[in-house]
Amino acid sequence: MRFRSCYIPTLKETPADAEVISHKLLVRAGLIRKITSGVYTYMPLALRALRKIETVVREEMAQAGFEELLLPMVQPGDLWKESGRWEHYGKELLRFKDRGGRDYCLGPTHEEVVTDLVRGEVRSYKQLPVRHYQIQTKFRDEIRPRFGLMRGREFIMKDGYSFDADDAGASQAYRDANDAYHRIFSRLGLRFRAVEADSGSIGGSFSHEFHVLADAGEDTIASCSACDYAANVERCELVWEGKGEVPACPALETVATPGLHSVAEVAKFLGVAASKLVKTMIFNVDGKPVAVLVRGDREVNEVKVKNLLGAESAELAAPELVEKATGAPLGFAGPCGLDIPVYADLELQGGNGWVTGANKGDAHHVNVDLARDCKVERYLDLRLAEDGDRCPRCGAPLELTRGIEVGHIFKLGTKYSHAMHCVYLDEGGKEQEMVMGCYGIGVSRVLAAAIEQNHDGNGIVFPPAIAPFASEILVLDPADETVCAKAEELEKALASLGFESLVDDRTERPGVKFKDADLLGLPMQFICGGKGLAKGVVETKNRLTGEKGTLPADQLLEGAKAFAEAVQASWDARRK
Ligand code: ATP
Ligand code: MG
Repeated sequence: MRFRSCYIPTLKETPADAEVISHKLLVRAGLIRKITSGVYTYMPLALRALRKIETVVREEMAQAGFEELLLPMVQPGDLWKESGRWEHYGKELLRFKDRGGRDYCLGPTHEEVVTDLVRGEVRSYKQLPVRHYQIQTKFRDEIRPRFGLMRGREFIMKDGYSFDADDAGASQAYRDANDAYHRIFSRLGLRFRAVEADSGSIGGSFSHEFHVLADAGEDTIASCSACDYAANVERCELVWEGKGEVPACPALETVATPGLHSVAEVAKFLGVAASKLVKTMIFNVDGKPVAVLVRGDREVNEVKVKNLLGAESAELAAPELVEKATGAPLGFAGPCGLDIPVYADLELQGGNGWVTGANKGDAHHVNVDLARDCKVERYLDLRLAEDGDRCPRCGAPLELTRGIEVGHIFKLGTKYSHAMHCVYLDEGGKEQEMVMGCYGIGVSRVLAAAIEQNHDGNGIVFPPAIAPFASEILVLDPADETVCAKAEELEKALASLGFESLVDDRTERPGVKFKDADLLGLPMQFICGGKGLAKGVVETKNRLTGEKGTLPADQLLEGAKAFAEAVQASWDARRK
């Protein structure tokens, strides 16, 4: 393919709204263009890369026994009312009415639609299991679309669904999908980690996320340094190691702390460590205020609060609600005398003599004994994991890294089949609910994640399995017929080895071509020019390692083959 006949509008300037590197590079290399917030056009090179990702996904889903279909993107609101998600899904669900006034939405995910399909088709246990998947555009009206393809409102997802007669069948489907995901992300050449995860609004009992490891990731993953435990921090369990003996403490006192709101300010003023303070966070849990206590040097894990309290929603309360619940300005909330439920983190069972807010302006309590001075409803695992916390499985220290969630698999159980009456007749002719699973991959997010993990100061460094073309042939003297003929011979030799090339024979200066080649980041670069050919060579550059070399101009096929193997080997080494 000629560079000229492929639309690759590269830019020198970085787009002003791009915060992360993949967004900057995708725009600069001419792969995407924004039409409105969180909605992008995939230009030809991006589409090629997406097709490569999709091919790997299709092959491995087929291997795992899933059959491809294409479900409608426009979904009737009635199905969502049946599942109960019409009310609970929130504003991410883009809803609208047709001319007849009926409710519809754009599909953010397809549990309802696929469940409706299967309940209409399957009657008997003999028709199970059923495994379907699709690759389709999704729409979620994200509150903060950002980071280009990483968090779009419109994005491409592979979503798969399994229906089984029983738990054993559903577990097998889950394992098959899990294995397929390991193969997919390995084949794509990405460094990734599978972690235990929260089920979020999809629901279900059990789930794993697949994360591409990269600093720009929005998620934090806690991995054990000794065993194979890994979890999203949202979900990472923490155990309390204390013995339950609480040291005695003197009577509670109130001290003046004028204008001191933060943990750091109060700790400094009182001359104590931040870990001696108790933070009292007021949450709005399904519309009601609840106090959550953690040590002053810890953070509350909001997902744990929501899950452990069995809430539909739990978020930090607005200032008015905090002031109403505590009777004090922000920064002075404390557990003593509160008239709302108080939940404390497990760690607070181990100490005594705490410093807390006094529920009045400019004052704190000292010598607080939680058992003696306040009413704590329950002690629960409510805090966010930190570097060095103990692994809940083996006790070794946990390490925290950043990850980009590219895949998520869920055991749904009978959540949807129960709500939507998706049943079959068992061998005894008795009606049973199907046991479901669902399995997502953010195909367009994978493209961004691959770039987050693989780039340098000059541009994208595409993993071979994702690269829009395997190689770029830079024709330095496009007016020279011998040079052009050699470039064409090389393109053919590469094609015979199964590699597609982008041939840059534009009438641009060599410097422009070198820059663009590095920006586009195709794995193999071949530099074909009059000077090199006079010496009987075509030059090569491995985009990953930057290593330069030559191959004999009269043995292009052998030379290209050896170079391609060396480039692949450098990628294999990087993944290990
Ligand atoms: P996130 O936590 O990132 O919002 P999610 O947990 O809501 O994602 P799932 O419902 O698990 O997402 O969707 C399956 C996959 O779709 C995700 O693992 C992710 O790769 C992708 N995905 C989800 N939301 C977006 C988005 N806004 N833009 C791009 N990809 C997305
Ligand atoms: Mg998810």
